[in-house]
Amino acid sequence: MKIICPKCKNPYRTSDNSSRSIRKFGFFYRISDRKKVQRFYCKLCSLHFSVATLSFCYRQKKRQINHRVARQLVSGTSQRECARLMKINRKTVVRKFIFMAERAKLTLEKLNKKRPSIAQLEFDDLETFEHTKCKPISVTLAVESKSRWIVGYEVASMPAKGLIAKLSVKKYGKRHDGRSTARKKLFGRIQKYIASEADIKSDQNPHYVTDVQRFFPRSRHYRYKGRRGCVVGQGELKAGGSDPLFSLNHTCAMARYRISRLIRRTWNTTKKMEMLDLHFALMSLHHNLSLKETSLLRGRTATG
Ligand SMILES: [Zn+2]
Repeated sequence: MKIICPKCKNPYRTSDNSSRSIRKFGFFYRISDRKKVQRFYCKLCSLHFSVATLSFCYRQKKRQINHRVARQLVSGTSQRECARLMKINRKTVVRKFIFMAERAKLTLEKLNKKRPSIAQLEFDDLETFEHTKCKPISVTLAVESKSRWIVGYEVASMPAKGLIAKLSVKKYGKRHDGRSTARKKLFGRIQKYIASEADIKSDQNPHYVTDVQRFFPRSRHYRYKGRRGCVVGQGELKAGGSDPLFSLNHTCAMARYRISRLIRRTWNTTKKMEMLDLHFALMSLHHNLSLKETSLLRGRTATG
């Protein structure tokens, strides 16, 4: 960590060793984990600060469990179960979850920038719901073919389909369809990571064509017919031979396994769309870091 004064942004050490305005000022032992924390004093603005002031975890209690909570939440554990396992309060889990997920979002961006541009992309929507099946949510997921690297995702609300469509309108009113906006937002964000003449694969959804043409004008867009799942209740694993959208479907299936609120036929549901978004960030980071190719990157990027 580079030590700078939080107030006047003066660095502790300069390259030519000219600045001598910050000096060491004793240390203290942090109560929560008994770590020795160096203190500093800035002579320019007479400010006392420490390494802890500059840390992302500033003023957190129990910072030592941050990673363990994140690990639990991407291993199919619910927030309440995580609290029980770790013997901490449920609200502590929520707080740690939000903190780690927001950091994960930043790290995902950093990792995307480090990678070479993507030549083969697959994308599709994963469907889930908030509170009740009458209020469905769609998650547009973009995955690199073969490596299964998650490039990006976007969460949006969508109206209910099929038999419960009428009931949904009657009970909760007309539901906003944010899928198109979310797709455009996702494409706009990941545009810079995709090679100009990339191969883009998706299913035969008619709405996809114009968006792909608009954001990736020189790419080739391949569209495949949607297929039935091979196991009842596991719609992502397709029946009948090789699946052209395997990387994407496999990633979606893994997301359902890793995020407890996405497991099919579970007690566990999403209550807020924003939280599903954060949970996806956490899952995406762990997924990307667990891929074989990132074992090299891992050494260079801090995950927490
Ligand atoms: Zn200062």
